[in-house]
Amino acid sequence: MWQEFFYGRRLLKSDIPESLLAYLDEAEVNKLPAFKLSNRNKHQCLRCGNELEESDFLVNYLGFIEHYCSYCLVMGKATVGDTYYHLPQTSKIDEVNFYWEGELSPSQQRASQMILEAVEKKKDILVHAVTGAGKTEMIFETVHKSLVNGKFVCVASPRVDVCLELYPRFQAAFDVAIALLHGKQRGDYYHSQLVICTTHQLLRFYQAFDLLIVDEVDAFPFRGNPMLEYGVTQALRPQGSMIYLTATPTKQLEYQVRTGAMEVSGISVRYHGYPLPVPQTIWLWQWHQKLMKGKLPRPLQIILEQQLEAGRRTLVFLPTINLMERTEKLLTKVFPNHHISSASSTDEERLSKVKNMREEVYDLFLSTTILERGVTFRDIDVIVIGSNHDVFNTASLIQIAGRVGRKAEFPKGAVFFIHDGWSLAMKQAVSQIKRMNAEGIKGRLLRDEM
Ligand SMILES: [Zn+2]
Repeated sequence: MWQEFFYGRRLLKSDIPESLLAYLDEAEVNKLPAFKLSNRNKHQCLRCGNELEESDFLVNYLGFIEHYCSYCLVMGKATVGDTYYHLPQTSKIDEVNFYWEGELSPSQQRASQMILEAVEKKKDILVHAVTGAGKTEMIFETVHKSLVNGKFVCVASPRVDVCLELYPRFQAAFDVAIALLHGKQRGDYYHSQLVICTTHQLLRFYQAFDLLIVDEVDAFPFRGNPMLEYGVTQALRPQGSMIYLTATPTKQLEYQVRTGAMEVSGISVRYHGYPLPVPQTIWLWQWHQKLMKGKLPRPLQIILEQQLEAGRRTLVFLPTINLMERTEKLLTKVFPNHHISSASSTDEERLSKVKNMREEVYDLFLSTTILERGVTFRDIDVIVIGSNHDVFNTASLIQIAGRVGRKAEFPKGAVFFIHDGWSLAMKQAVSQIKRMNAEGIKGRLLRDEM
């Protein structure tokens, strides 16, 4: 049915496959403007909320001036005068089978109940859960109830890697068609009750979802990005509810909780009940200069040798792609008999390398902050080289430390912060991790003493 392409979406002509263009003149297809005049008498883009500046124009090949939105250009060029094609979200009840047979921990159970109640009251809720708390499982019940009631549900994340991890977990839990949408994927769109997508993809939806869950809401590029925040409000149906999931809430979300605009559920322990690994800090004078000169500093070499001899697979974070590539070359030379690889945002093979790391192909795997969250590797340790670099803020250091000990079979592991001077972010990250563990002990939620 051709209509399925348009339900709950807001599409430019360029988003629509040629085979469907003939239907655009059908009376039932809503034609919505791409821009409106704002209070400040500027053209406002209705896809991303941006107001155009005088300089946002180009002269097209016919010699005409076109005003277009440069903010959301990555989703296709929206020009003043353009039309969006839209059909209102339909009602649809697929048969939904729920297969998940895992068991929620008492903390997860409590959070799951709070989420369900908030959504039933049509309230928004912030789920503030430590890394490895098992956030996904806590939303299963609410997602299931929503689907059974014929609601449309979207799980969105700023990170492609997070979407790719979530997709198979939802597929295993729910016997329902799930659309996976992100910028790196090509394939036909199909209308489904459950969508997993990047927050960018939300810009193509309009009043589509009754329940919209944003995972890792504090992550780049969502954090502080008005375009993506606007996209969320546009994709939600007027009576819809939001669930925000995070281990490190932004000030803005905390403010909304304080003012009562949003409910909150906090989980200070991991689902397996073991404490969060507390980072060990190691002083390494001039780590940056030494690596740039192509030298592997002795203390770093000793740690890596210990890791490799003990057979500990290790995720090594570096602040920049340049440093990561230099360090990879260096390590490959120093440890020729070990499997070493790396992944960054510009690496075209990133997704397959991450898959290899998950399949335990590499002994050392180097990365930038691109892998700070969303990914789960079994039984690993983590080293952050240059943890005092600006790129590692409090949230990213907490997330990075949170890569360790995520599986119930391997709940422990080591985290090393290698630095040449404590940054404020390092201090805050270590103290927040310790505070969460202390809360777990106080609430008698932890399995063993630290
Ligand atoms: Zn725009």
